[in-house]
Amino acid sequence: MNILHWYAVVMKKSYMIETKGYAAQDAKTPLAPWSFQRREVGDHDVKLDILYCGVCHSDLHQIRNEWGGSIFPMVPGHEIIGRVSKVGNHVHKFKLGELVGVGCLVDSCRQCDNCKHGLQQYCTGGSSFTYNSYEQDHTTLTYGGYSKMVVVNEDFVLHVSEKLPITGVAPLLCAGITTYSPLRHWKIGKGHKVGILGLGGLGHMAVKFASSFGAEVTMLSTSRSKEADAKKLGAHKFVLTTNDEYVNKVKGYFDFIIDTVSAPHDYNLYLSLLKTDGIQICVGVPPTPAEINGFSLLGGRKSLAGSTIGGLPETQEMLDYCAEHNIISDVEVIAIKDINKAYDRMLKGDVHYRFVIDMASL
Ligand code: NAP
Ligand code: ZN
Ligand code: ZN
Repeated sequence: MNILHWYAVVMKKSYMIETKGYAAQDAKTPLAPWSFQRREVGDHDVKLDILYCGVCHSDLHQIRNEWGGSIFPMVPGHEIIGRVSKVGNHVHKFKLGELVGVGCLVDSCRQCDNCKHGLQQYCTGGSSFTYNSYEQDHTTLTYGGYSKMVVVNEDFVLHVSEKLPITGVAPLLCAGITTYSPLRHWKIGKGHKVGILGLGGLGHMAVKFASSFGAEVTMLSTSRSKEADAKKLGAHKFVLTTNDEYVNKVKGYFDFIIDTVSAPHDYNLYLSLLKTDGIQICVGVPPTPAEINGFSLLGGRKSLAGSTIGGLPETQEMLDYCAEHNIISDVEVIAIKDINKAYDRMLKGDVHYRFVIDMASL
């Protein structure tokens, strides 16, 4: 190392903040406490002291490297609620002490057409995700919300109303926006019959939003035990998808299906439940590719579509909608030491309906 390089490393370190979190060191080891560094608050940055962070099935897919390309050590977490504890010199949108949120994105190229239209989730220049990703300098790794604090550019921080219980607000930052966005994009509401496939974190938010938008909502679930809950969440009907007799009754029935399933499943079966011109919208991302029979699509001119999270303007719109209509996630608050047990329960479909980590337990 020459003297200049050494000086640059020392200077960079002196502009870093020491913090703590829970990390996976590789795809096979459970999450454990880990100390690491965040960047110092820059002119346009906001520092959040994290209060709660939701637990998404994507966290589990990524720490286990089920989608490939995972970067370790990994601090997961992209449903972050916190209070502003420091702002940069040029930050005007946020004040000290304000309640704020950070979702799946912490930056994007800001130049491409999608970024210019507020669709940062489809940034073609490469967005910076909250963890398992790189900042726009393409060298600094991002670390997520299972931690004490985070520093984020103010353009990727969201205003959160003080009106709602904040434990239930955290999951809106991913489960909420991921289901709100396709429902809005396809203008799903009054007069539509919509099936929500899978009653987990995303599924329960999809039921709440679709019923709030006026659609007739049917829960399509593999778990008989979730029927009463589905109805309480706002579903009008419940179909146990492991029972052929019940499934046959809803063949050709739906205008839309929102598919939130995290594990491999038979897409052709669910396409058969759509009406002519019906659309199955995939938000769940099973680890293995799906087999689609062409006949499942062409008979009935059906579409299989996808959607991911939402851009910053739409995420703010969703948070404001929730504050106005009293919509929150149903959560089970856990201590961070119980995160690995929570993942095991998530794999068994035993989540009612989102785990949220109380970061004071770290
Ligand atoms: P989750 O809470 O674990 O819920 C998944 C639900 O899928 C389960 O509760 C279960 O519901 C159902 N399910 C599980 N295995 C199944 C199987 N073999 N066949 C049929 N149904 C099954 O997960 P989540 O956090 O909601 O995430 C769901 C998926 O969405 C994950 O793949 C995640 O990575 C992905 N995701 C995508 C985005 C995006 O931007 N598109 C954002 C967040 C998450 P029942 O008991 O009712 O059957
Ligand atoms: Zn997520
Ligand atoms: Zn872009």
